[in-house]
Amino acid sequence: MFEFLLPPKLRRKRKTPSPRKTHSPERMSIPEGLDFTLQRDHCRTLRLTVKPDGSVLVKSPVAVPLERVLDFVRTKLDWIREKQAFFLEHRGSGTDFRERGIIHFLGRPFLISPAEKRRGSRPRLTAGRLELPCRNGTPEDIETAYKAWRMDMAKRVLGRRLARLDARARAILGDRPGHCGLSVRSLKRRWGSCSAQGQITLAARLIELPLPLIDYVICHELCHLRHMDHSPAFHGTLMRLLPDARKREQDIRIWSLEHPQSRQENRL
Ligand SMILES: [Zn+2]
Repeated sequence: MFEFLLPPKLRRKRKTPSPRKTHSPERMSIPEGLDFTLQRDHCRTLRLTVKPDGSVLVKSPVAVPLERVLDFVRTKLDWIREKQAFFLEHRGSGTDFRERGIIHFLGRPFLISPAEKRRGSRPRLTAGRLELPCRNGTPEDIETAYKAWRMDMAKRVLGRRLARLDARARAILGDRPGHCGLSVRSLKRRWGSCSAQGQITLAARLIELPLPLIDYVICHELCHLRHMDHSPAFHGTLMRLLPDARKREQDIRIWSLEHPQSRQENRL
């Protein structure tokens, strides 16, 4: 029987070795013209994922016969094709931090326009361009200057937006959940989060999104001041603040796909 062993370095780190065995992923294909990766592990049910690059991953309990796995994949073929087409349609490319590369601010595109860095010079948005004073105009230099500008703008824009939406939420819900603080950070994997102490953290990158989607993320976190989970009560409160919350949530997913530099910050 095949037994997977971790490399010695990793093995030492593991405190209690799992008695359950894991199998290496296998490349599979079916005559209907679909390739996928099969991962056998100790999950309890068959699961199928279509990734944004169109690849398909099937996870299966070790005991399930291969024929049943293949039948399962066949029954999902239409759904897989639909997902692959969706990802293909919304596939985008990341930001190119060069002159005439494109960045987004409040959902609108702006061309990067590097400018000479002088004493007192500041970035500014003008007629479809972001004038960005930087030292030498290399992609790394432009990216650093852009991210500093984005953080500065995010603190201002998101701070104002949070104050307004917090007041609106209190008026609509008629409650006083206590003071909420804001910190803006360069989050890589999330759009925002909320601590039990009422501290809301938002990703600086949020200001790239159109305003209705920014509002969605902020309202989502404001609802976490009232419900620290994603229970029906949480969603009920969110729908009172934003009746089209589901649509906005879907639009954020699409935005993340079309602007991959913002991808994987999907979670809230
Ligand atoms: Zn949440």
